[in-house]
Amino acid sequence: MIAGRRALLAGLLGLARAPDASASEDEDSAAVYAAAARGPAQALHVRGGEIRVTFAQGAPGLDRAPVLAWIARNAQALEVYFGRFPVARYALLVRAQPGERVGHATTWGYAGPITRVDVGVRADAAAFAEDWVMAHEMMHAALPNLPRRCLWVQEGASTWLEPVARAQAGQLPAAEVWRQAVEGMPHGLPRAGDGGMDGTQAWGRLYWGGAAFWLQAEIAAFEATDGRRTLRDGLRAVNRASGGNAVVWPPERLTAVADAALGAPALAPLYARWAARPQPDDLAATFARLGVGAARAGGPPAFDDHAPLAALRRRITAP
Ligand SMILES: [Zn+2]
Repeated sequence: MIAGRRALLAGLLGLARAPDASASEDEDSAAVYAAAARGPAQALHVRGGEIRVTFAQGAPGLDRAPVLAWIARNAQALEVYFGRFPVARYALLVRAQPGERVGHATTWGYAGPITRVDVGVRADAAAFAEDWVMAHEMMHAALPNLPRRCLWVQEGASTWLEPVARAQAGQLPAAEVWRQAVEGMPHGLPRAGDGGMDGTQAWGRLYWGGAAFWLQAEIAAFEATDGRRTLRDGLRAVNRASGGNAVVWPPERLTAVADAALGAPALAPLYARWAARPQPDDLAATFARLGVGAARAGGPPAFDDHAPLAALRRRITAP
């Protein structure tokens, strides 16, 4: 859907102006933690933890029930992906804003996982149903913070895993996961003169280049284990070992923990290559191996179940 795509790109442009992961130096963060601590907070009980939702300054004009349902629905997608909600305590500061859409969001970790999100007072059920921001931010909370040069790893993880988790939870059609990947990932390709991914600040590379890295990580994990394990097994281990984004890890620790869970060196060599050198344009070949054909006129891509990695493609989004 063209409108959805435009909204997605606009959203990414917005996020790129103020990257939302590892924003611990953001001067707003102290005020966000203070506002959440002041409350009053409404507790949502999730498998493995609790989400405390604070409506900033009472969020005048915002109907709370649909907001809480939207949060709970996205929490359920994260529960499915990680086997439980990925952090024991997660705070959300919801700000009312004019308009009919879910707006900007920022996630911090250092004083405990917390997300501030702006929600339009006229947002309706359709706006909440098609929103990608909430699951994207929850994914940031689930994985350790990394040094600033690795922002692409974090934004890429949220960009790739957000629709995957929602598909696994039955909230998004599998075809939509692949439609977004086919449309979005070309924005992450290196341009002439680009180096490796570490330190990149270009929004296309941060979000979609990072997402393309994680798609390659799916393939690497699957192939290194002869299909016995998937990236999700590795990332569950990373989540359990880190406890989420309240810690800062070197990227080598993330890949080592994931590879230990997989029982094979899948992510470490992949990260080393992507961080240091521009990776060749192999998107078309990658999608062909997965059996993902070209999207036609904004519709879903055609699938080829005889492609070499068709089994992985189906497993990535399997309920
Ligand atoms: Zn993000």
